[in-house]
Amino acid sequence: MMRAVPLKLGTAGYVVISHLNITERKIAEQQVRELARIDGLTQIANRRHFDDFYEQEWSRCARLKHPLSLAMIDLDNFKSLNDNFGHLVGDICLKEVAKLLPDYTRRPGDLCARYGGEEFVLVLGNTQNHQAQKLVTRFMAALNTLQLPELAGHPLTVSIGLATIYPNSSDDAMLLIEMADSALYQAKEAGRNQLVVADNIEPLNIEKCP
Ligand code: GH3
Ligand code: MG
Ligand code: MG
Repeated sequence: MMRAVPLKLGTAGYVVISHLNITERKIAEQQVRELARIDGLTQIANRRHFDDFYEQEWSRCARLKHPLSLAMIDLDNFKSLNDNFGHLVGDICLKEVAKLLPDYTRRPGDLCARYGGEEFVLVLGNTQNHQAQKLVTRFMAALNTLQLPELAGHPLTVSIGLATIYPNSSDDAMLLIEMADSALYQAKEAGRNQLVVADNIEPLNIEKCP
């Protein structure tokens, strides 16, 4: 940081210039900002980061007439898993699931986040529904092969609700979350350990065509 202060000595005018190294302060501020966006347990984006990112991605996709996909992922019967194996093992499961997710959200318009307790969310910008289905199916297959010694063969499964929309800047961004949520609810109702795709995928209509 540079400071310039005018100085008058008699009739002569000077400027006193001082330099202060504030690198450490800036790095500390940046670290605090980053920590505020990361979930402490799973080390992926937290709900606050998701909220900000999702809003931005919604607007970006609306502006560029791109499809936006969102997957809600909820661990199955997690309460009973905690009851049977203890909360520490429950925490390990959450961390292991979170470790898998970044492999499916590699593009700049993508994000994986912990949405709440035992729920995760994938935001997939500029991603058609069929592409998102492929990613989510691959994630489920990877989870299927995960062998956690702490679970001693007990299966760790998830239910997923997936929805895709062509956002419109005048629409409420909650719409897509509600669609994915209701698909997730159907996956639970249908017996868990499965993906349900919301059938009301909003088609790109003529006015929205680039
Ligand atoms: P469902 O298949 O219908 O989703 O059943 P569920 O048991 O997973 O759902 P429910 O909402 O009844 O319970 C969620 C459980 O997740 C209860 C709560 O204790 C547990 N949970 C939430 N956050 C954490 C966490 O940070 N660590 C651990 N170990 N458990 C958590
Ligand atoms: Mg839940
Ligand atoms: Mg659950």
